[in-house]
Amino acid sequence: MTVDLDNQSCIECGACAELCPEVFEMDDRSGKARVIVFDITEKSCVEEAILTCPAECIYWRD
Ligand code: SF4
Repeated sequence: MTVDLDNQSCIECGACAELCPEVFEMDDRSGKARVIVFDITEKSCVEEAILTCPAECIYWRD
């Protein structure tokens, strides 16, 4: 499973990085979230981040 996010839509709330810091982090320069590990083997916290993201901009890719 591969996860990605549309950082244009990110509203910089920080929830994904808080819930799942091994996969997401906040970029100091842009203030937006970014994915630091794309290939996910344990998806529980990613699912939580997808459900929590207020901008609905985190998604699974094939
Ligand atoms: S949860 Fe969504 S809106 Fe919030 S920082 Fe992460 S990607 Fe951006």
